[in-house]
Amino acid sequence: MIRSLLRRIFSGPARTTRRGAPAVIAREAHGIGRDRISPGALRVASTLQQHGYEAYVVGGAVRDLLVGRTPKDFDVATNATPEQVHALFRRSRIIGRRFRLVHVLAGPEVIETATFRGDGAPPDPEEAEEAVDAVDGPRPAGRRALPVAGVRQTDEHGRLIRDNVYGNREQDAARRDFTVNALFYDPSNETIIDFHGGVADVRRRSLRMIGDPARRYREDPVRMLRAVRFAASLGFEIERGTREPIAEFAPLLTHVPPARLFDETLKLLLGGGAVSAVGRLRSEGLHHGLLPMLDVILEQPLGERFVMKALENTDARVNAGRSISPGFLFATLLWHELLAQWERERGEGGGKPPMVAMSDAMDGVIARQVERLAIPRRFTAQMREIWMLQPRFEHRSGRRPFRLLEQERFRAAYDFLLLRCESGEIDAELGQWWTRFQHAAESEREQMLVADSPAAGRPRRRRRRSGRGGRAGGDGDPA
Ligand code: ATP
Ligand code: MG
Repeated sequence: MIRSLLRRIFSGPARTTRRGAPAVIAREAHGIGRDRISPGALRVASTLQQHGYEAYVVGGAVRDLLVGRTPKDFDVATNATPEQVHALFRRSRIIGRRFRLVHVLAGPEVIETATFRGDGAPPDPEEAEEAVDAVDGPRPAGRRALPVAGVRQTDEHGRLIRDNVYGNREQDAARRDFTVNALFYDPSNETIIDFHGGVADVRRRSLRMIGDPARRYREDPVRMLRAVRFAASLGFEIERGTREPIAEFAPLLTHVPPARLFDETLKLLLGGGAVSAVGRLRSEGLHHGLLPMLDVILEQPLGERFVMKALENTDARVNAGRSISPGFLFATLLWHELLAQWERERGEGGGKPPMVAMSDAMDGVIARQVERLAIPRRFTAQMREIWMLQPRFEHRSGRRPFRLLEQERFRAAYDFLLLRCESGEIDAELGQWWTRFQHAAESEREQMLVADSPAAGRPRRRRRRSGRGGRAGGDGDPA
């Protein structure tokens, strides 16, 4: 029995089993015990099942467990409607407008619990019965067929604009993007239900779109970004049929709303595989127009070195489980564009004072980005702070270095400075000075000031009034 199952799973690419019963893969074959599922997800799934509903752990969590990673969160899919789910869990709330789901609070976890989505066609009750019975045995009494709600519409580009139709398990699998993202894990018997050969694709490290890739990209161009993101972060190859249409369809990304593009961009850059993702974006011809900020950068040698270093650092931090700041990353991505614009602002019409020019340049650079990529204000605020502090690192005399140390964003700005040094944009000596200055004892700091004072500032920059008077106050500065 198990052997025949294994044969079915591992033989050939198990092409979209349209209308076929899914493969049901036992624990012995996939190796994931329920102890790997979070307590919250276990509780949500088992409560739903006890009440006669189907419930599975789905999506990214199952995929990550199969590749041996710890999932960052666990989602549940069920045939219970949002209202039915909500009724079972006191600490839950229904969220979402386009497609409603339920957030169930379970201890410290939030378990996103989604009702199976369909593809718009009314589910064929017989077919659904069959698929369920084949796997689970007869339905418990009280389980009702799901209502079909809403409609599924596409715009003139074939993009899906409404997708709020409930469906059954098979339909829910079919509307997901990649085979490895469409696996259902049943904690009650530790089986994986696999409609599209996803387990085999994990084994062969292949990212394959469910259904016709061209149609699926047209429906939702963001899937192209997701393909690159998953391939990069999992170290998978994008299967040929899934890869090939990307070059042709890349321009469709211009129709994606900026907020959504921002979300996916963030996931792409902060998923721990940014360096590889950017490399792949390039090889797929996706770095043009897709990420407006990458366009310019990847074409300037200095900018590229800087950005790649920033991405390497980001990947290292993410993979070490350390926190990263999106504001910092976006500040790096746009830095060279800002420098160019700053130069222009200072040069134009006799030239603006440096900090005014900087401020105007920041406005311009950010405004151009947010047209396409909705960078939230809290991030642009961080970016501005980090940028504004950069020129101040050049002043190494008087009280100014001490005042800079007190800045709330000093740490981020300093890390940013080091990256600039590493990439060869500015002299490494400046970064070394600041490293030493930070950690030096007070007396040494004073000496450093004296020693460096005459050379402070870079020649091309106009010296500003430096004597704003030392701020009085107990802030750790030497009196
Ligand atoms: P991550 O670990 O990065 O969160 P994930 O697989 O959980 O990866 P999500 O964006 O959280 O990705 O989406 C959850 C699941 O929803 C996916 O695994 C996939 O099955 C489905 N999904 C998400 N976005 C799409 C999409 N654009 N098209 C089709 N299915 C999607
Ligand atoms: Mg997820």
